[in-house]
Parts: sequence; C-alpha cells; structure tokens
Amino acid sequence: MESASHLARLGLKLPPGEAPSAAEAYVCSACQTTQAAGRPRKDWKPKPYSFTDWLALRPGVQGRLSLCADCLPFFSMPVLLATQSLVVNREGAWSLSKDAHRAWFLTTPPAPPFVAMIGDATMQHLVWRARVSYSRELIAVQIGRSSLLIDRPWMLEAVQWARRAAEIGRALGLRVVSQHPFQRLSRHRNDLSDVAHGSMRADYLACASDHPELRDLLARLQQLGTGELWALAHLTKRKQEAPSALPIARPWLESCDV
Ligand SMILES: [Zn+2]
Repeated sequence: MESASHLARLGLKLPPGEAPSAAEAYVCSACQTTQAAGRPRKDWKPKPYSFTDWLALRPGVQGRLSLCADCLPFFSMPVLLATQSLVVNREGAWSLSKDAHRAWFLTTPPAPPFVAMIGDATMQHLVWRARVSYSRELIAVQIGRSSLLIDRPWMLEAVQWARRAAEIGRALGLRVVSQHPFQRLSRHRNDLSDVAHGSMRADYLACASDHPELRDLLARLQQLGTGELWALAHLTKRKQEAPSALPIARPWLESCDV
C-alpha cells in the first residue's frame, strides 16, 4: 500500500528528501512504512518542546527516530505551512481551507487515490498521519489528530433524508432554519464531542411519534457515523465552491531545508 507521504509528495511535485543510505531495513517513524536497506534514512532528533506531534510517531529502536525520503520534505517549514488544508492526488492539489471547498470535495472528490487533510491548530503535521483514500465511495479525511471515514453513498442519502425531515418539520409548523433536524451539526473537530452535535431536536422527536415517515427519517439519521455527520454539517449548510488548483510546489523548493 502506498503511503500518504509518497502520494502527496508526487502530487505536489516535491523531490524525495536526501539522506544517507540506510545500512539495514528500518521503519519510518512518521509514515510507518518499512524501508529497505539502501534507501535514504535520516536520523531525526527533533528539538525538545518544539515538536508537538510526538503521539503520532512510531517509536523508534531505543528511541532512535528515522525519517524516510517521502516524509522528509514534509518536515520543512514552507511545505508544512502549505499543507495544512488540502486534498492531493497524483495530478495536483486543491485547497480545503474554506467550508465551501470542503462541500465541493465531498460531492465531487478528485480521482483516487488521494489524501485529504484539514488542520485544526495553527500548525500541524498532517500528511504522514493521514490515510490514503482508494475510492470515491469511502473517503478518509485527516482532521488534526483524528482520522474520519466517510461512506459517501450513505452521506449523499443522508443529505436527502435531512432535507426531507426539515421539509416535514416545516409543514408541521416547527421553526425550521437549518436543512436538517439536528440540534446542532459541527464542522470543527473540537466540537464533535459536543452533546448537541448529532442529537435530534426534541420538537422533531415529539412530532415523529404521529408521523411514520418522519420517524423513519430520524431513525436513519441517528445511525450516521462521526464522518457522515461531519460531512452533513457542510452539505446541509454551505454552498459549494470549487477551489482553483493549488500552485504546484516549485516555489517552495527554494526554501526547503531538507
Ligand atoms: Zn516516512
């Protein structure tokens, strides 16, 4: 299986990082792929207190950390900064920085395989933590420390269920502002554990006891997983907007320090 770092490096036209050849096979501490003897291997000693993604690293042999040629470019500051919110495949990369971009991505994902990532802090390592999506039907999105999986056919059906539930709610005299019957749908990772996120509104539930179609719709929507709920938050609220392709990484190369 291809690592996210390898795929993203190719899509962003970044050359492999240069490092001495490994004397024996090793496991990259970042992407966790096994690298054969002879492949570049960088002994890595991050500065204490400056690297906050320790928990995502694979422990090295006796604390020794190694980086592979695919991950090395993503440890340079210009590349790190430029890869905080994007989706990348072999053809190129597109921004996911705005909600409208994310709605576009969820409805029209690029040709797989691709890697999608969205930072939720000022600066994070995302690429080598991400999963590669091999299909448009099951897509992975790395959001900060969390990896969300989205079943797209289910997600697309859920958009219709949510809209239909809102339509019924309106017809029954409920105060309907959102195109869904949830108390709240959050688009931010830190809010996904909010008790209101993904919970049904009490007034919808009260109406559902006398309305079989609404009861069925709410029951289906309550089955959605974390990824589908996150996707629904974009697709029931936000307009879509195709981002222009991100500039290919050439300008970054001058300032790469790897
Ligand atoms: Zn690696």
